[in-house]
Amino acid sequence: MGIRTVGIIGAGTMGNGIAQACAVAGLDVIMVDIGDAAVQKGIGTVAASLDRLIKKGEITELRKAAALGRIKGSTAYEDLKSAQIVIEAATENFDLKVKILKQIDSLVGDDVIVASNTSSISITKLAAVVNRSERFIGMHFFNPVPMMALVEIIRGLQTSDAAHGLVEELARQLGKFPITVKNSPGFVVNRILCPMINEAFCVLGEGLATAEEIDEGMKLGCNHPIGPLALADMVGLDTMLAVMDVLFTEFADPKYRPAMLLREMVAAGHLGRKSGRGVYVYSR
Ligand code: NAD
Repeated sequence: MGIRTVGIIGAGTMGNGIAQACAVAGLDVIMVDIGDAAVQKGIGTVAASLDRLIKKGEITELRKAAALGRIKGSTAYEDLKSAQIVIEAATENFDLKVKILKQIDSLVGDDVIVASNTSSISITKLAAVVNRSERFIGMHFFNPVPMMALVEIIRGLQTSDAAHGLVEELARQLGKFPITVKNSPGFVVNRILCPMINEAFCVLGEGLATAEEIDEGMKLGCNHPIGPLALADMVGLDTMLAVMDVLFTEFADPKYRPAMLLREMVAAGHLGRKSGRGVYVYSR
Protein backbone atom coordinates (compact mmCIF):
# COMPACT_ATOMS: atom_id res chain seq x y z
CA MET A 1 0.00 0.00 0.00
CA GLY A 2 1.63 3.27 -1.07
CA ILE A 3 0.96 6.44 0.87
CA ARG A 4 -0.76 9.18 -1.13
CA THR A 5 -2.63 11.04 1.57
CA VAL A 6 -1.35 11.89 5.05
CA GLY A 7 -3.70 12.91 7.84
CA ILE A 8 -2.19 15.19 10.49
CA ILE A 9 -3.74 15.97 13.87
CA GLY A 10 -2.67 19.40 15.14
CA ALA A 11 -1.77 22.44 13.05
CA GLY A 12 0.72 23.85 15.58
CA THR A 13 4.51 24.09 15.45
CA MET A 14 5.02 20.46 14.43
CA GLY A 15 1.74 19.72 12.64
CA ASN A 16 2.17 22.50 10.10
CA GLY A 17 5.85 21.63 9.63
CA ILE A 18 5.00 17.98 8.90
CA ALA A 19 2.22 19.15 6.57
CA GLN A 20 4.71 21.29 4.64
CA ALA A 21 7.26 18.47 4.34
CA CYS A 22 4.58 16.07 3.05
CA ALA A 23 3.04 18.56 0.60
CA VAL A 24 6.42 19.59 -0.83
CA ALA A 25 7.16 15.88 -1.36
CA GLY A 26 3.98 15.61 -3.46
CA LEU A 27 1.63 14.01 -0.93
CA ASP A 28 -1.90 15.17 -0.21
CA VAL A 29 -2.42 16.37 3.36
CA ILE A 30 -5.44 16.75 5.60
CA MET A 31 -4.48 18.83 8.64
CA VAL A 32 -7.01 18.81 11.48
CA ASP A 33 -7.10 21.09 14.51
CA ILE A 34 -9.79 21.99 17.01
CA GLY A 35 -10.66 25.46 15.70
CA ASP A 36 -10.63 27.37 12.43
CA ALA A 37 -8.20 29.93 13.82
CA ALA A 38 -5.61 27.24 14.62
CA VAL A 39 -6.04 25.64 11.17
CA GLN A 40 -5.67 29.00 9.39
CA LYS A 41 -2.66 29.93 11.52
CA GLY A 42 -1.04 26.61 10.59
CA ILE A 43 -1.64 27.10 6.87
CA GLY A 44 -0.37 30.71 7.17
CA THR A 45 2.83 29.43 8.78
CA VAL A 46 3.37 26.98 5.89
CA ALA A 47 2.83 29.80 3.34
CA ALA A 48 5.34 32.05 5.15
CA SER A 49 7.86 29.21 5.38
CA LEU A 50 7.51 28.45 1.64
CA ASP A 51 8.01 32.19 0.92
CA ARG A 52 11.33 32.02 2.77
CA LEU A 53 12.35 29.06 0.59
CA ILE A 54 11.45 31.08 -2.54
CA LYS A 55 13.62 33.98 -1.29
CA LYS A 56 16.50 31.54 -0.81
CA GLY A 57 15.96 30.30 -4.38
CA GLU A 58 15.15 26.77 -3.19
CA ILE A 59 11.63 26.57 -4.67
CA THR A 60 9.57 28.45 -7.27
CA GLU A 61 6.24 30.30 -6.83
CA LEU A 62 4.67 27.49 -8.84
CA ARG A 63 5.97 24.82 -6.45
CA LYS A 64 4.72 26.85 -3.48
CA ALA A 65 1.22 27.09 -4.99
CA ALA A 66 1.21 23.36 -5.76
CA ALA A 67 2.31 22.47 -2.21
CA LEU A 68 -0.25 24.78 -0.59
CA GLY A 69 -2.91 23.36 -2.91
CA ARG A 70 -2.21 19.87 -1.53
CA ILE A 71 -2.93 20.88 2.09
CA LYS A 72 -6.54 20.75 3.17
CA GLY A 73 -7.21 22.32 6.57
CA SER A 74 -10.14 20.98 8.56
CA THR A 75 -11.77 20.86 11.98
CA ALA A 76 -13.56 17.57 11.21
CA TYR A 77 -11.90 14.26 12.10
CA GLU A 78 -14.16 12.58 9.49
CA ASP A 79 -11.98 14.18 6.79
CA LEU A 80 -9.14 11.83 7.82
CA LYS A 81 -10.95 8.90 6.21
CA SER A 82 -9.08 9.25 2.91
CA ALA A 83 -5.63 9.03 4.56
CA GLN A 84 -3.37 5.95 4.46
CA ILE A 85 -1.47 7.20 7.52
CA VAL A 86 -2.49 9.59 10.31
CA ILE A 87 0.24 11.39 12.22
CA GLU A 88 -0.86 12.72 15.59
CA ALA A 89 0.95 15.99 16.45
CA ALA A 90 -1.32 17.51 19.08
CA THR A 91 -0.32 18.98 22.44
CA GLU A 92 2.04 16.83 24.55
CA ASN A 93 -0.43 15.41 27.06
CA PHE A 94 -1.08 11.71 27.63
CA ASP A 95 -4.82 11.93 28.36
CA LEU A 96 -5.42 14.21 25.38
CA LYS A 97 -3.49 11.88 23.06
CA VAL A 98 -5.47 8.86 24.31
CA LYS A 99 -8.72 10.68 23.57
CA ILE A 100 -7.54 11.69 20.08
CA LEU A 101 -6.13 8.24 19.22
CA LYS A 102 -9.37 6.49 20.20
CA GLN A 103 -11.27 8.92 18.00
CA ILE A 104 -8.99 8.25 15.01
CA ASP A 105 -9.05 4.51 15.68
CA SER A 106 -12.83 4.36 15.37
CA LEU A 107 -12.89 6.47 12.19
CA VAL A 108 -10.20 5.22 9.81
CA GLY A 109 -9.88 1.83 8.09
CA ASP A 110 -8.13 -1.11 9.77
CA ASP A 111 -5.18 -0.98 7.38
CA VAL A 112 -4.37 2.67 8.16
CA ILE A 113 -1.17 3.30 10.11
CA VAL A 114 -1.40 5.68 13.05
CA ALA A 115 1.78 7.39 14.21
CA SER A 116 2.45 9.78 17.07
CA ASN A 117 4.94 12.62 16.93
CA THR A 118 5.14 12.64 20.74
CA SER A 119 8.45 13.88 22.17
CA SER A 120 8.47 11.58 25.16
CA ILE A 121 5.29 9.60 25.83
CA SER A 122 5.60 5.80 25.70
CA ILE A 123 4.66 4.43 22.27
CA THR A 124 3.91 1.04 23.84
CA LYS A 125 1.44 2.71 26.26
CA LEU A 126 -0.24 4.68 23.46
CA ALA A 127 -0.36 1.58 21.22
CA ALA A 128 -2.20 -0.25 23.99
CA VAL A 129 -5.18 2.13 23.81
CA VAL A 130 -5.87 1.57 20.10
CA ASN A 131 -7.25 -1.54 18.37
CA ARG A 132 -4.48 -1.40 15.75
CA SER A 133 -1.55 -1.76 18.21
CA GLU A 134 0.63 -3.47 15.57
CA ARG A 135 -0.01 -0.60 13.14
CA PHE A 136 0.83 2.08 15.71
CA ILE A 137 4.30 3.64 15.81
CA GLY A 138 6.28 6.71 16.89
CA MET A 139 7.32 9.06 14.10
CA HIS A 140 9.26 11.81 15.84
CA PHE A 141 10.11 14.78 13.62
CA PHE A 142 12.39 17.61 14.69
CA ASN A 143 11.73 21.34 14.80
CA PRO A 144 11.67 23.13 12.36
CA VAL A 145 10.49 20.12 10.34
CA PRO A 146 11.25 21.50 6.86
CA MET A 147 14.90 22.10 7.89
CA MET A 148 15.70 19.16 10.15
CA ALA A 149 16.81 15.94 8.49
CA LEU A 150 16.17 13.50 11.32
CA VAL A 151 13.08 11.38 11.94
CA GLU A 152 13.33 9.17 15.00
CA ILE A 153 11.13 6.12 14.47
CA ILE A 154 10.05 4.45 17.68
CA ARG A 155 8.78 0.91 17.69
CA GLY A 156 6.41 0.03 20.50
CA LEU A 157 6.49 -3.52 21.80
CA GLN A 158 3.50 -4.25 19.55
CA THR A 159 4.65 -2.51 16.31
CA SER A 160 4.81 -4.82 13.26
CA ASP A 161 7.73 -5.00 10.81
CA ALA A 162 5.34 -4.02 8.00
CA ALA A 163 4.26 -0.78 9.75
CA HIS A 164 7.86 0.00 10.58
CA GLY A 165 8.94 -0.53 6.97
CA LEU A 166 6.20 1.71 5.63
CA VAL A 167 6.99 4.57 7.99
CA GLU A 168 10.71 4.29 7.25
CA GLU A 169 9.89 4.50 3.54
CA LEU A 170 7.68 7.55 4.13
CA ALA A 171 10.46 9.32 6.06
CA ARG A 172 12.83 8.75 3.11
CA GLN A 173 10.16 9.93 0.66
CA LEU A 174 10.06 13.21 2.64
CA GLY A 175 13.82 13.53 2.19
CA LYS A 176 14.49 12.72 5.86
CA PHE A 177 17.03 10.44 7.48
CA PRO A 178 15.28 7.89 9.71
CA ILE A 179 16.83 6.18 12.72
CA THR A 180 14.91 3.47 14.56
CA VAL A 181 15.06 3.33 18.34
CA LYS A 182 13.47 1.23 21.06
CA ASN A 183 10.64 2.65 23.10
CA SER A 184 11.90 4.34 26.27
CA PRO A 185 11.00 7.67 27.95
CA GLY A 186 12.29 10.54 25.77
CA PHE A 187 13.52 7.95 23.24
CA VAL A 188 17.14 8.79 22.29
CA VAL A 189 17.59 12.39 21.14
CA ASN A 190 15.36 14.09 23.76
CA ARG A 191 16.74 11.84 26.52
CA ILE A 192 20.10 13.52 25.85
CA LEU A 193 19.00 16.98 24.66
CA CYS A 194 16.26 17.94 27.14
CA PRO A 195 18.27 17.43 30.37
CA MET A 196 20.94 19.70 28.84
CA ILE A 197 18.37 22.42 28.11
CA ASN A 198 16.84 21.90 31.57
CA GLU A 199 20.27 22.44 33.12
CA ALA A 200 20.54 25.75 31.22
CA PHE A 201 17.32 26.85 33.01
CA CYS A 202 18.86 25.81 36.36
CA VAL A 203 21.98 27.87 35.58
CA LEU A 204 19.82 30.85 34.56
CA GLY A 205 17.63 30.45 37.67
CA GLU A 206 20.71 30.42 39.91
CA GLY A 207 21.84 33.69 38.31
CA LEU A 208 25.20 32.28 37.23
CA ALA A 209 25.05 34.10 33.89
CA THR A 210 22.58 35.94 31.67
CA ALA A 211 20.52 34.08 29.06
CA GLU A 212 22.63 35.63 26.30
CA GLU A 213 25.86 34.55 28.01
CA ILE A 214 24.61 30.99 28.53
CA ASP A 215 23.55 30.72 24.88
CA GLU A 216 26.77 32.28 23.56
CA GLY A 217 28.75 29.98 25.86
CA MET A 218 27.17 26.85 24.40
CA LYS A 219 27.40 28.15 20.83
CA LEU A 220 31.03 29.23 20.98
CA GLY A 221 32.24 26.65 23.49
CA CYS A 222 30.46 23.56 22.14
CA ASN A 223 29.87 24.57 18.53
CA HIS A 224 26.09 24.28 18.92
CA PRO A 225 24.29 26.17 16.11
CA ILE A 226 21.79 27.65 18.62
CA GLY A 227 21.96 28.20 22.39
CA PRO A 228 19.89 25.91 24.68
CA LEU A 229 17.61 28.72 25.90
CA ALA A 230 16.88 30.03 22.39
CA LEU A 231 16.23 26.43 21.37
CA ALA A 232 13.80 25.99 24.28
CA ASP A 233 11.91 29.08 23.04
CA MET A 234 11.68 27.44 19.62
CA VAL A 235 10.53 24.09 20.98
CA GLY A 236 7.98 25.70 23.34
CA LEU A 237 8.57 25.85 27.10
CA ASP A 238 5.35 23.91 27.79
CA THR A 239 6.56 21.08 25.54
CA MET A 240 10.00 21.17 27.22
CA LEU A 241 8.38 20.92 30.67
CA ALA A 242 6.09 18.11 29.53
CA VAL A 243 9.11 16.10 28.31
CA MET A 244 11.04 16.67 31.56
CA ASP A 245 7.96 15.66 33.57
CA VAL A 246 7.76 12.38 31.63
CA LEU A 247 11.49 11.66 32.12
CA PHE A 248 11.25 12.52 35.84
CA THR A 249 8.13 10.43 36.44
CA GLU A 250 9.02 7.42 34.30
CA PHE A 251 12.64 7.00 35.45
CA ALA A 252 11.88 8.17 39.03
CA ASP A 253 15.36 9.65 39.02
CA PRO A 254 15.99 13.16 40.49
CA LYS A 255 18.52 13.90 37.76
CA TYR A 256 15.56 14.60 35.46
CA ARG A 257 13.77 17.03 37.85
CA PRO A 258 12.39 19.98 35.83
CA ALA A 259 14.04 23.34 36.64
CA MET A 260 11.90 25.55 38.90
CA LEU A 261 12.39 28.50 36.54
CA LEU A 262 11.04 26.43 33.63
CA ARG A 263 7.93 25.59 35.68
CA GLU A 264 7.48 29.24 36.70
CA MET A 265 7.76 30.50 33.14
CA VAL A 266 5.20 27.99 31.85
CA ALA A 267 2.85 28.95 34.71
CA ALA A 268 3.23 32.59 33.63
CA GLY A 269 2.32 31.70 30.03
CA HIS A 270 5.80 32.51 28.77
CA LEU A 271 5.88 29.60 26.32
CA GLY A 272 8.55 30.83 23.89
CA ARG A 273 8.18 31.94 20.29
CA LYS A 274 4.61 30.67 19.98
CA SER A 275 3.36 33.02 22.75
CA GLY A 276 5.65 35.92 21.79
CA ARG A 277 7.68 35.59 24.98
CA GLY A 278 9.80 32.91 26.60
CA VAL A 279 13.37 33.37 27.75
CA TYR A 280 13.52 36.07 25.07
CA VAL A 281 10.84 38.46 23.77
CA TYR A 282 9.69 38.14 20.13
CA SER A 283 7.87 40.67 17.99
CA ARG A 284 4.92 39.02 16.23
P1 NAD B 1 1.76 23.22 19.63
O1 NAD B 1 1.28 23.69 20.94
O2 NAD B 1 2.52 24.18 18.76
O3 NAD B 1 0.54 22.67 18.74
C1 NAD B 1 -0.35 21.69 19.21
C2 NAD B 1 -1.64 21.82 18.40
O4 NAD B 1 -2.51 20.73 18.75
C3 NAD B 1 -2.40 23.12 18.67
O5 NAD B 1 -2.64 23.80 17.45
C4 NAD B 1 -3.70 22.62 19.31
O6 NAD B 1 -4.83 23.44 19.00
C5 NAD B 1 -3.83 21.23 18.69
N1 NAD B 1 -4.76 20.36 19.40
C6 NAD B 1 -4.97 20.26 20.74
N2 NAD B 1 -5.96 19.37 20.96
C7 NAD B 1 -6.37 18.89 19.76
C8 NAD B 1 -7.36 17.96 19.34
N3 NAD B 1 -8.14 17.34 20.22
N4 NAD B 1 -7.50 17.71 18.00
C9 NAD B 1 -6.72 18.36 17.10
N5 NAD B 1 -5.78 19.26 17.44
C10 NAD B 1 -5.61 19.53 18.75
O7 NAD B 1 2.62 21.91 19.93
P2 NAD B 1 3.79 21.28 19.03
O8 NAD B 1 5.09 21.87 19.44
O9 NAD B 1 3.39 21.31 17.60
O10 NAD B 1 3.79 19.78 19.57
C11 NAD B 1 2.94 18.79 19.03
C12 NAD B 1 3.49 17.42 19.36
O11 NAD B 1 4.79 17.29 18.74
C13 NAD B 1 3.71 17.17 20.85
O12 NAD B 1 3.47 15.82 21.13
C14 NAD B 1 5.20 17.51 21.03
O13 NAD B 1 5.77 16.86 22.13
C15 NAD B 1 5.76 16.97 19.73
N6 NAD B 1 7.05 17.55 19.30
C16 NAD B 1 7.30 18.86 19.48
C17 NAD B 1 8.53 19.39 19.06
C18 NAD B 1 8.85 20.86 19.22
O14 NAD B 1 10.02 21.24 19.06
N7 NAD B 1 7.88 21.71 19.51
C19 NAD B 1 9.47 18.56 18.45
C20 NAD B 1 9.15 17.21 18.23
C21 NAD B 1 7.94 16.71 18.68
